[in-house]
Amino acid sequence: MKNYIGVFLGVFASLVINAQNQKRDTEHFKATYNHETEIYAIASLELLETVWTIASDNGFNLPQKIRFSIEKSDRNALYFNRKSLKGITWEYESLAEFMPPDQGGKNCIYGLCHEIGHLCMHNTNNNRNSWMSLNYREGWADYFGNMIVDSLYNEHGTDIWPNPHNFKKYAGMEYFHNRLEEDNPKLQSFNNASQFWYDLGSEIGFNNIQLFFDTIKTDKVDNPGAREKFNKVLEEYLKKQDIEGWFEQFVDDLIINKE
Ligand SMILES: [Zn+2]
Repeated sequence: MKNYIGVFLGVFASLVINAQNQKRDTEHFKATYNHETEIYAIASLELLETVWTIASDNGFNLPQKIRFSIEKSDRNALYFNRKSLKGITWEYESLAEFMPPDQGGKNCIYGLCHEIGHLCMHNTNNNRNSWMSLNYREGWADYFGNMIVDSLYNEHGTDIWPNPHNFKKYAGMEYFHNRLEEDNPKLQSFNNASQFWYDLGSEIGFNNIQLFFDTIKTDKVDNPGAREKFNKVLEEYLKKQDIEGWFEQFVDDLIINKE
């Protein structure tokens, strides 16, 4: 019985220590986190607010209030809530993960930008997305995340994180282009999808991509025939000749077509 109570108290104590008992609201984010991550929660919120503003200045539609939760876990994972499309969760195992990548941490700054990219896309197209391949979605968030990293760097320099570091070493458009040029066979489909979004964004303008997403929705791109319907949307936006021929190099990595 004693042992049982001991275990119970131990579990209770660790629940109290790890409880999501800290809360902080900013204009567009509602954060919960535990005390040990406070400096990173505050830095993340500042970063996310900046990303929210850059995204909306570029025409993207994001929820007015996004939940942001940093949770102690037995793994490291950063993801958005696919159901509500109004939340980002960051699970961490140890505080070392918040350090810069060359000090044993994860690519945190890029990761947060990448998740906002997912929310931009899914807030428009979630209702019809079974035709989108994983690389379609990840290539988009990759292009968006790296674009935003450059803007963040221009606005805040290296001071945006509690451990200032040159985060353009691990993300941003220069990093993005170098990665595509490296042509790692394991990343072939993912890189090809990223290249598609980069080419599209360069041609129609980064600030017109929300309109492109809107057209995908209003034109009801979906299966059967998602490939052809998507191609029609491309024709509305691109001025180049032989759009179908150009798209041929990307389509198998982007669209799960069913006739
Ligand atoms: Zn992703």
